[in-house]
Amino acid sequence: MEHVDLLTIGAGGGGYPAAFRLAKAGKKAVMIDSKGVMSGNCLEQGCVPSKTVREAIEVYRLAKQREYFGLKGENIGFDYSKIVDFKDNVQKFRYAQHAKELEEASGNLKLIKGAASFVDEHTVKVVTADSEIIYNADNIIIASGAEPYILPIEGAEHCITSTDLYIINTKIRTLPKSIAILGAGYIGVETATFFSELGVDVTIIQRSKRILTAMDERFALLLQNSLDPKIKLELGTEIKKVEKVGADGSYNYNVSYMKDGVLKTINADLVLMGYGRKPVIPEGTDKLGINFDARGRIKINSAIQTNIPHIYASGDVNGLSMLFHSAERQSLVCANNIFAGNTPIDYMDFNAVPTTVFTFPKAAYAGILPAQAEKIGMNILECSYDFVVDAKAQIYNELNGEIREFFDAKTLKIVGAWIIGIDAELLIGELVTAIQNSLDVHMVASLPNQHPTSSEGVAKAARKLL
Ligand code: ADP
Repeated sequence: MEHVDLLTIGAGGGGYPAAFRLAKAGKKAVMIDSKGVMSGNCLEQGCVPSKTVREAIEVYRLAKQREYFGLKGENIGFDYSKIVDFKDNVQKFRYAQHAKELEEASGNLKLIKGAASFVDEHTVKVVTADSEIIYNADNIIIASGAEPYILPIEGAEHCITSTDLYIINTKIRTLPKSIAILGAGYIGVETATFFSELGVDVTIIQRSKRILTAMDERFALLLQNSLDPKIKLELGTEIKKVEKVGADGSYNYNVSYMKDGVLKTINADLVLMGYGRKPVIPEGTDKLGINFDARGRIKINSAIQTNIPHIYASGDVNGLSMLFHSAERQSLVCANNIFAGNTPIDYMDFNAVPTTVFTFPKAAYAGILPAQAEKIGMNILECSYDFVVDAKAQIYNELNGEIREFFDAKTLKIVGAWIIGIDAELLIGELVTAIQNSLDVHMVASLPNQHPTSSEGVAKAARKLL
């Protein structure tokens, strides 16, 4: 039996930052990951590859508008298999970087390729390709992540998931002519806009009457109304089944669903399960007496501890905000609390985590938005800035969209914001800093944002309240 100060189950964003921090401070840390590499699902099949594909399409989209920019060029086109090669290469590049980081880390840190399961609350069994190791750990971080949620319908086995599309060395290297996307979560909607930009016939089939049901309704509807009208939105449906049709080698699929009391069927070359992700729970966790919520997620406090103080559940596995950057911060909260002997000194502020939907156009938000403000009884003041008057947006001819800010009407402190449109994923960074630091409307209004960049709108929006 080997003793360590910290064992992480998973070496993704929820696991490795804490392991590195403890090792740097002279503690013995081990990360167990069945992939045998760092960075978890984000790099293997999630955020990095999907955003890499998006950026290639962004370049293509701009190239198509070359005349607008005064440029010339013949035969602007794309080869999807080459876009996938590009994606694979970015993944490989980052894997090499992580391998180097691991190599350079202190000798107190190890990554073991294997499957971890709990024996008891301080003992973890790791099954590797050729052995079994038993670890005794003072502290454990469950950072086992999440996997695509599969809707339990007839024919679900015929559907692909985002993993099949974006995983390194994916087999899917040609574009379908048509795709049906089941569910309008952010993964489904992002992929819908990517494929639509490439000329694929896209249909989203969604149970609710709008997309992105986990997000603020006004925000989601604004984005919904900004999507390419070529994307067919079948809302308010109940999916019945997916059937494989066609001959050997040229299969396609029929998706049947109820809409307004009528059974409809559409045909597509591919069917994507575009729902969210569900936690992956290591074997043996249930025997420890750890509390789960009604949706099967490990319950934690804001110090990221489970009800067993030396066992943490960080990142996607707790389901509170399934984003790499959130997992990373949660992992560091765990490290700080482990240093403090599991008597919390650091807490996670989930409100201050930005979320970006990397659709065409992009949309980002953070903090308290109108639906949540109403729920908690907070009166808010709001202001906005339309990109139609923005110099950078005008240069790019991306005039749709807005920056919108929300202030607590009592304190005049900024509590939330969203951006739909140009540079959304970057602009939200400044607004998150404002939210985290509780800047008031005067402070936001006096930020000297650079001209001509889209960030000018951050201050200009706030000035409208003064
Ligand atoms: P997060 O961002 O929350 O850290 P990820 O999904 O990116 O989550 O990473 C979780 C990692 O945990 C994945 O690489 C997965 O292979 C690994 N993992 C999940 N369960 C186990 C397990 N029981 N043993 C070893 N590794 C695991």
